[in-house]
Amino acid sequence: MKTVIRTLSAALVAATALGAIGVSAQDYPSQPVTIVVPFSAGGPTDTVTRLVAAAMSDELGQQVVVQNVGGAGGTLGAGQVAAAAPDGYTLLLHHIGMSTAPALYASLPYDPLTDFATIGLVTEVPMTVVARRDFEPTNLEDLIAYIKENGENITYANAGIGAASQLCGLLIMDALDTKMTEVPYQGTGPAMTDLLGGQIDMMCDQTTNTTSQIHAGEIKAYAVTTPERIAVLPDLPTLDEGGIDNFNLSIWHGLYAPAGTDPAIVERLTAALQVALANEKVGTSFAELGTYPVPADQATPAALSAMLEGQIALWKEVISAAGVSAQ
Ligand code: ASP
Repeated sequence: MKTVIRTLSAALVAATALGAIGVSAQDYPSQPVTIVVPFSAGGPTDTVTRLVAAAMSDELGQQVVVQNVGGAGGTLGAGQVAAAAPDGYTLLLHHIGMSTAPALYASLPYDPLTDFATIGLVTEVPMTVVARRDFEPTNLEDLIAYIKENGENITYANAGIGAASQLCGLLIMDALDTKMTEVPYQGTGPAMTDLLGGQIDMMCDQTTNTTSQIHAGEIKAYAVTTPERIAVLPDLPTLDEGGIDNFNLSIWHGLYAPAGTDPAIVERLTAALQVALANEKVGTSFAELGTYPVPADQATPAALSAMLEGQIALWKEVISAAGVSAQ
């Protein structure tokens, strides 16, 4: 009899659990959703996320809150989401760093390919090479000569090992066969504050964090990191034009949930992301910042998974060819 009761109660617990999952997927979201940004507030990833979060919130009928968990080049925030409950209430918006960190860290507290459920690609953002307003070089040619000559006397801000700003600097230093003094921040938001204040010399950062300061003349800009010039900063040459051949770096962003999230919840989030990216205000704001929302067929789990897989392989090769091992 005891066995029957135990079996029955086990079945009941299982049924209740199944019921709970079913109900939660159906009612999702019934409470605010948090998107973790693995960098400081006020930086480029934060800016992109806040625009998308506001539009997703309208679509989901729930508040979508942005939480900044900066540090260790984005790996702290990513690790926090990997370890979060897979209930759809804690998400991660991260960029290319998701694919470079495995090549830069000897060990990570998460596996980008197995610890996350992909929701969709979000945007792809060009970077700009910028400096404090009174930095000596006046154009890209001067800058390249200046870096070669002054190397470690130049302070170069980045958001830590694994950040896009770190990757960009690493590729430039490798191409020019020199080293600058890297100064890590928890995000390029605070790094921009120091660049504006003249406490730091240089940085390479997404247009989403630099365009308005460049337009206002508050910082110097030398180049874009994409193979083509860009519409919002048409006077800026490409690094390739400056003689750093084939330089091509644009920063893709994706939205993730912890692995094990109910596929119905992932589907709901993908649909909300697609609506958010089609939102006119998001499109206009992105365009003013030098970027664009990806089309709906890219804002999908399959597209983000394919990007992540391809980029992990690519950066592993590039980073090891550059002879860089950060940790
Ligand atoms: N996107 C910046 C970087 O990777 C960090 C940030 O968003 O603050 O350097």
